Amino acid sequence: MSFSHRLVLSIALSVLSFSSLSQQSAAQQAPFTQEQKETATQLMETALKSELGFDIVESLTTEIGPRLAGSEAEKRALEWGVELGKELGFDKVSIEEFTMPFWDRGHLHLLMNTPYKQELHATALGGAATSEKEIEASVVYFRDIHALAAAKDGSLKGKVAFVDGDKMVKSQTGAGYGQANQRRRIGYHHAERAGAEALIVRSVGSSSHRFAHTGMMSKNGDNWATIPVVAISNPDADQFRRLHNLGESLSVSLSSESKWKGDVSSGNVILDLIGSEKPEEIVLIGAHIDSWDNGTGAVDDGAGIGITVAAATLISRLPKRPKRTIRVVMFGAEEVGLLGGFAYAEKHADNLHNHVVATESDFGAQTIWQLVSNVNEEATVLIDEIAKILSPIGIVRGGSDVPGGGPDIIPMQQKGVPTIRLNQNGRDYFDLHHTPDDTLDKINPDELAQNVAAYAATIYLIADSDVNMKQ
Ligand code: ZN
Ligand code: ZN
Repeated sequence: MSFSHRLVLSIALSVLSFSSLSQQSAAQQAPFTQEQKETATQLMETALKSELGFDIVESLTTEIGPRLAGSEAEKRALEWGVELGKELGFDKVSIEEFTMPFWDRGHLHLLMNTPYKQELHATALGGAATSEKEIEASVVYFRDIHALAAAKDGSLKGKVAFVDGDKMVKSQTGAGYGQANQRRRIGYHHAERAGAEALIVRSVGSSSHRFAHTGMMSKNGDNWATIPVVAISNPDADQFRRLHNLGESLSVSLSSESKWKGDVSSGNVILDLIGSEKPEEIVLIGAHIDSWDNGTGAVDDGAGIGITVAAATLISRLPKRPKRTIRVVMFGAEEVGLLGGFAYAEKHADNLHNHVVATESDFGAQTIWQLVSNVNEEATVLIDEIAKILSPIGIVRGGSDVPGGGPDIIPMQQKGVPTIRLNQNGRDYFDLHHTPDDTLDKINPDELAQNVAAYAATIYLIADSDVNMKQ
């Protein structure tokens, strides 16, 4: 039996079980009416058969392509988002602009000179500085970020530092990313302090391909890096480690044109389905529309755009709007520091109390397996019930005290907006994340449709409920 056949069958079975279930608990003030449950189930059935989510990702990644934050391409993507919202019939479509500093990658060349010559597949990390001239230097090996942190001030003058670490292990939850990410985020703080000419970092990812993973660095106090910082692929980092262990002396030539190019404008695209009874109350879903520039940002985060826009669109085709407003936000400039997320939370600071709940899809397009939440007690019961309704499509209830609805949600969550999250299987995510391999062919349309089904049902049920979710 195929995946989708199994889903349809299990949905049919669950519809049968709803009728007996509702008779039992009618006296206990069930969170949802029979009609609401049936509507949610119908939404899931429709979503599983719909190609809309995939079509949206295909359009974004093909017609716009890569969408570096603050670039002309990101601007075209924002216009694309506005057009899409109008075409799909959202009640209100707007764009909220903000200003941001623009970092451009430029050309990079990295060559291993000794013990033998080989071109390395490297990528600059976001925020890295340009090399004034070609750097030719020996490489000092550090086993991990802790070893680099222990380097004495000034001890790396005239050298290039290489910080190793471990290849990320593939996992459903993406566990290990936060820790591994330290070498990418703050490795340069230590390399600069020790006087290095440049820093090379083992990619933060699980890929065994000869692709480097890019990503943003963290400021050092108020300052960005003053040296070039580049990532190399896992296989090249393995090679560096073996050569180091053999006692070979490593040296490289490196030139990089990465630099900050002043202030530009970016923005968030906002698509609203206005609620029929409580239009001021907002159920917010979103994804980020910018991407790194080495792939086409299909998995990160074109998928999230496709999933959330398609889910809201399917809800918009119901005979009646849900009670509350459903808002889809396409966040700009996420990759370079959640700038769209911060801009949204600031612009809507006076109205965040009207945001019932917020969540973002930003972990690829593999099947959703778990629903977690961070809402008040009464609303937890409601989320428990939603998880039951989602169970036919393979979703289980996870923690009820898990804050954080996704990266762009953090700034509003910090100001008290309740969150839920539909967790995707992230097993392949860090193979593709921030690499040239992040392209449309990596998305399985059936799995993406399951995501749309989960979002459509969940968001419909919350938007058509009266339950307050604030802690
Ligand atoms: Zn992302
Ligand atoms: Zn990303």
